[in-house]
Amino acid sequence: MRTRENDPVKVKDLMESIKEIGLQEPIDVLEVEGVYYGFSGCHRFEAHQRLGLPTIRCKVRRGTKETLRHHLQ
Ligand code: ADP
Repeated sequence: MRTRENDPVKVKDLMESIKEIGLQEPIDVLEVEGVYYGFSGCHRFEAHQRLGLPTIRCKVRRGTKETLRHHLQ
């Protein structure tokens, strides 16, 4: 799910850094009824994709549809 374009310079810098020292701060993910929603960490996610990394470390928080609605407003 993507709502705005990532800053390509940020992504490039993150790719360099992640290659060098790894992901220092996992991205935050919200789980609602078995579906995973990401609201931040878009640059880290794209950096991982561009580096061809198959997985990314996440902090998963479980929420309800109400939590999700809050995030979407
Ligand atoms: P994002 O959209 O992924 O949140 P930002 O550019 O807004 O991108 O923030 C970059 C975040 O990535 C910062 O919170 C920083 O702490 C985190 N981070 C995790 N790993 C690294 C890394 N290896 N080098 C630089 N920043 C990192």
